[in-house]
Amino acid sequence: MGESRFDRLFIGGEWVEPIDGGLRGSIDPATGEPWGEVAFGGKADIDRAVTAAREAFEGPWRKMPGWERAALLRKFADLYATKVEALAQIESRDNGRAIRESRGDIGLHAQYYHWFASLTDKLSGRTIPMDDSVHAFTSRLPAGVIGTITPWNVPLMAAAWKLGPALAAGCTVVLKPAEHTPASSLALGRIFEEAGFPPGVVNIVPGDGPVAGAHLVAHPGVDKIAFTGEGATAKTILKTGADTLKRFSFELGGKAPHIIFDDANIEQALNAATGSAWALCGQSCALGSRILVERSIYDRVVKEFRERASRVKVGMPLDPAIHMGPQAHQDQLDKTLSYIGIGRDEGADLVAGGSRIDNTDLQGGYFVEPTVFSNVVPNMRIAQEEIFGPVASIIPFEGEEEAVAIANGTPYGLAAGLWTNDVGRAHRVAAQIEAGIVWVNTYRYIRWSTPYGGFKTSGWGRENGLEALDSYLETRTTIVSTTGQFP
Ligand code: NAD
Repeated sequence: MGESRFDRLFIGGEWVEPIDGGLRGSIDPATGEPWGEVAFGGKADIDRAVTAAREAFEGPWRKMPGWERAALLRKFADLYATKVEALAQIESRDNGRAIRESRGDIGLHAQYYHWFASLTDKLSGRTIPMDDSVHAFTSRLPAGVIGTITPWNVPLMAAAWKLGPALAAGCTVVLKPAEHTPASSLALGRIFEEAGFPPGVVNIVPGDGPVAGAHLVAHPGVDKIAFTGEGATAKTILKTGADTLKRFSFELGGKAPHIIFDDANIEQALNAATGSAWALCGQSCALGSRILVERSIYDRVVKEFRERASRVKVGMPLDPAIHMGPQAHQDQLDKTLSYIGIGRDEGADLVAGGSRIDNTDLQGGYFVEPTVFSNVVPNMRIAQEEIFGPVASIIPFEGEEEAVAIANGTPYGLAAGLWTNDVGRAHRVAAQIEAGIVWVNTYRYIRWSTPYGGFKTSGWGRENGLEALDSYLETRTTIVSTTGQFP
């Protein structure tokens, strides 16, 4: 998107300079060098954005009939679909994701907006039976101004998952993308503008989490915070926002188990398990970072993992031939390398990878080898904590009971995969897994219509599906006397 500008904030339908922020170089993680200047907002910019969002909410947006909001969202979605390649290039530049992955992911987003557009004129309440003296009914109302705070691994996906249902519900939005990857979110502003959204319905303000993000969270003019990121940040956000008693939804971390029984189609299971271990360079909440393998096929699976790790093409993100780019930023690189060290110290067997890649072609970038540990014990830190790098931990198990115990044995509960050809076992085991989504003989397959979110410390609430729309609505019950008599 040649016309995209990253040196301004998008507030109240205008591209404005930051009041108390400034310009900052956004780092290309493939080189470690800045690739563009991006506007960062401060507290005063968040104030402006919240005011614009409030005015748009009280003005045109909440009064607009649902079908008109739907038409705008559909126009936005159609325009979005024409800009997939440009958005993918920006995102891969900013967060280092392999361009083939960015294209695949971003290519789906228009349909998320379309699906929520189709719900905007169907927000009806219910008639509640009480007795003849009253008529009781419910109405569904937009929750108000939404502060959306998104992570760096999937900036546009996280935005689509929040903006689609929020706008369909009749809410207005201030979007604060992560400081490492603000550019693609700013590019959204141009599309909202082109689609003809009223000024202030969507405002985009990159900024530092503890400054702009915290100010948005504490702001009394914001009715709900929709957050995707780390659990530790969510705890801080809860404390920061406590005084306002606003609503919160949280999509947090994961340590997904990928369980492979010996009766599974092993080839399929391996395709899914290895693909998912290294997708997004390991930087996705739902990746199967723990591979639980039945003892009888353990050696075979470890051998395949080792061989397949050696075939992963690591390289420059915009090269369509590569499978894996760099880690998205220096801190994540350091974290991944530190966990690889922890795995070694804990006594797991390093069977593939384990090092930073710093050869002449990739010098200065945050590249790490696809890494595999075998003989991992469930209570090791590499099997308990979210690494967010391309590090697979393969854990042996005997039988269903042990598989379930290991799968559920972390504080997380976001996603799980299960491979078996025994249909009874599939249902039996899936029913015992503590996770917001369980895939059986498939993996990471989700759509706009499927609720997604975490059990336990992996989150509050659900994104996608009707549940997501619900989370941007308030219910009002109205009880009208039919007799005029009280009592
Ligand atoms: P993060 O928590 O560091 O940052 C997320 C966002 O929070 C950023 O925009 C950041 O600026 C902001 N932030 C930081 N401190 C803040 C504060 N004090 N107040 C307000 N906002 C603040 O997370 P990250 O490192 O960007 O993302 C990685 C994490 O996100 C991983 O844990 C991953 O599992 C999780 N994630 C979850 C899902 C899901 O759907 N469950 C999807 C993607 C990522």
